[in-house]
Amino acid sequence: MELEKILYKYFGYKTFKTGQKEVILSLLGGNDTIAMLPTGTGKSLCYQLPGYCLDGQILIISPLLSLMQDQVEQLMKFGEKRVIALNSFLDSEKRGYVLGHLTKYKYIFVSPEMLGIPAIIKRLQALTISLFVVDEAHCISQWGYDFRPDYSKLGEFRKKLGNPLTLALTATATKKVREDIIHSLGLQEFNEIESTIDRPNIAFFIEEVPNYHDKQSRLIELVLQLQKPGIIYFSSKKVAEQMAVLIAEKGNNRVMAYHGGLEQEQRILIQQQFIHGQLEIICATSAFGMGVNKENIRFIIHYHMPMQIESYLQEIGRAGRDGGDSIAIMLYSPGDEQLPAQLAEGELPTELQIDWLFSQLSGNNLLEKNHHFRENGGFSEVQWRIIQEFIQHSQTPSNLEQIRQSLKGFVNERLTIKKNSILYLKKWIKSNACRRELILDYFDEEAHIEKVRNCCDVCGVRLDQYNADESQKTDPVNEEKWKDYLANILLNSELSE
Ligand code: ADP
Repeated sequence: MELEKILYKYFGYKTFKTGQKEVILSLLGGNDTIAMLPTGTGKSLCYQLPGYCLDGQILIISPLLSLMQDQVEQLMKFGEKRVIALNSFLDSEKRGYVLGHLTKYKYIFVSPEMLGIPAIIKRLQALTISLFVVDEAHCISQWGYDFRPDYSKLGEFRKKLGNPLTLALTATATKKVREDIIHSLGLQEFNEIESTIDRPNIAFFIEEVPNYHDKQSRLIELVLQLQKPGIIYFSSKKVAEQMAVLIAEKGNNRVMAYHGGLEQEQRILIQQQFIHGQLEIICATSAFGMGVNKENIRFIIHYHMPMQIESYLQEIGRAGRDGGDSIAIMLYSPGDEQLPAQLAEGELPTELQIDWLFSQLSGNNLLEKNHHFRENGGFSEVQWRIIQEFIQHSQTPSNLEQIRQSLKGFVNERLTIKKNSILYLKKWIKSNACRRELILDYFDEEAHIEKVRNCCDVCGVRLDQYNADESQKTDPVNEEKWKDYLANILLNSELSE
């Protein structure tokens, strides 16, 4: 059957988005494929559709439980019931049942740590895996901003499964990261399909303000003027909350904060209200975005400096999906790089914490029976995950001193990489060269493809082009209703930095 017909039959879409057909044709031609497609271009379809053309199972490795859940739901919405996620959410009874009936499923999502369990790999070996998909493949590379030690074993697992046809998917990876992906997965002959990361309808605008106080008032000014809807990204939940209140007080109460401290129900409610237009502005942390497919977002403002260009691009990439003119504004005040630097440090365990932990460990059981160490050592969830992954993957569990030293080395290396990313962003902010050219350069894209109409502040973009005109202004929400709503949200939210 013609691919377009399959697309329409199973997914209801008439045409492919950029890159999708190329990737699918490459796979159906039996070629291992590494695909770099920007966020929102429908990467998932690149493995979903081949499922209807290939016999056997599609195995998808996904780094985040929430992402996996999203992808499972996406397939179910299309009416596909043969989907399962093998992750720590499955209780042992359900896991036992699922493992005994794996052939019932067409799409099997699995977390990398599950692949490390011998009983699971054995079950998977008994299947015919027709496609091995590595989602967010940049997590494989030490040079990637999101390196997951768990991911570095994927090449080995692939081999154990008989080197099935492979698809590595990512939205943003530099050349070096792409080389790492290829090497780590052991791909010999493969097709590399990259679509440009450039989004010509999104203009870049960096505005330097003298201090933090001025930044607040400038944000209010911008938000009231700009055409909406829009998202403002913050690195702090507390500041996101405060600014949402301030924006409402100053004149637009179609605003709400969204962050990981909110209850799941509230998050869904806010997301839905934004998608359906009752809310116009979201004051968000990076928790907002995944699964939000809203076409007409007109502005993205970064109030705090992000930690790396890759996540910045993902965030601004939520604007202008309808192809309309949109703007990505970054407000910078001197010293802003301190916050991402602190956050980067906070994500990694400190030397003191490592020394303390290893003084408590003995024998071979290491962390399994010692979860209280996490609490006693004051480890955050991310810090603990790094330690767990690292220890799990160490080759010599009996030599604690060696592990301690190599963990320290690993942490230092990660910190250097993270700090370099922040320095690069600062250089980008301070540069007098075209913002777009520099970003394309970072991703090793050949010189500027075409001259963009509204490029960036350096190339002469004016902000007033993006202001709302009278016809685009909406009425505020009823005052009483809004206050109740806000009080409810604030009451239940966990206000933490
Ligand atoms: P990504 O992983 O690239 O960010 P997703 O795979 O989640 O994106 O897809 C983003 C959205 O685009 C989803 O709602 C998906 O159903 C939709 N989509 C995918 N392919 C097409 C297509 N060919 N035409 C229209 N919409 C599509």
